[in-house]
Amino acid sequence: MAKTAIITGGSRGLGAAMAKKLGEMGFNVVLAYHSASSEKLTEEVAAEIEKFGVETLIVRADVSKFEDCEKLVKATIDRFGDRISVLVNNAGITNNCNWIDITPDQYERVIATNLMSFMHMTHLVLPYMISHSSKDDQCNIVNISSVGGLTGVINQADYCASKAGVIGMSRALALEYAGKGIRVNCIAPGMIMTDMLRGVNQDELNALAATIPEGYIGGVHDIADAMEYLLKANYVTGQVLSPNGGFVMQ
Ligand code: NAP
Repeated sequence: MAKTAIITGGSRGLGAAMAKKLGEMGFNVVLAYHSASSEKLTEEVAAEIEKFGVETLIVRADVSKFEDCEKLVKATIDRFGDRISVLVNNAGITNNCNWIDITPDQYERVIATNLMSFMHMTHLVLPYMISHSSKDDQCNIVNISSVGGLTGVINQADYCASKAGVIGMSRALALEYAGKGIRVNCIAPGMIMTDMLRGVNQDELNALAATIPEGYIGGVHDIADAMEYLLKANYVTGQVLSPNGGFVMQ
């Protein structure tokens, strides 16, 4: 029987690529998205996943809100039962604003989406994981951080705080659940070509690429491959894997 994986922000970008990889790995995949405009995109991602012979469930949820996370987990259990094996916390947003002009609403929204949602989802899913996880049947939580969580980025103080918070949370939970069959790891992507870079023109993209030792901006498959590695790497927990073309070396 296929195991169940939940991924937040599965409509596009890194989330869509990781969701497809989860399907390829044989998981039934629950895709959460938020914007009404992403409904069709999410259905297209689900259709691609189902080609791997697994099932999907699409749930519209604003994961920055605890009650929407509860709705997402309940919908998962109603459809696939309570043996949830994988949670990928991926949904994220950015502001691009200096710390004088930014408003509390703006930075609270970033923290709620990029950090609080990870806390809500993990809090809700862990009891189900702990009820069936074992050394031979591990459960995994993969949290999407960023190189912004490892270093500073100008005009991204809220984003960097959220992403550093994700790393701290992941390490603490990795310790808390070590030896109980639950591994918790982070991926801290460098610059990856998704909608998140949509406001950047070609000249700026070229300038960004020139700052990366490997000389180019990464693709979504780089992050899906990192997720696959973490799901398979039975002895790896509490780690931060950063596919970033050498941009940041830890
Ligand atoms: P993206 O293309 O902008 O996609 C963002 C995803 O998050 C979408 O699926 C979006 O859903 C979802 N989302 C946003 N707010 C949500 C909410 N409140 N509730 C539920 N879903 C929500 O971004 P991306 O580049 O794939 O980024 C994915 C993750 O990787 C983020 O955590 C980001 O910080 C991180 N990251 C990205 C890069 C990069 O260079 N791209 C680098 C480092 C880290 P809708 O489609 O419904 O809006």
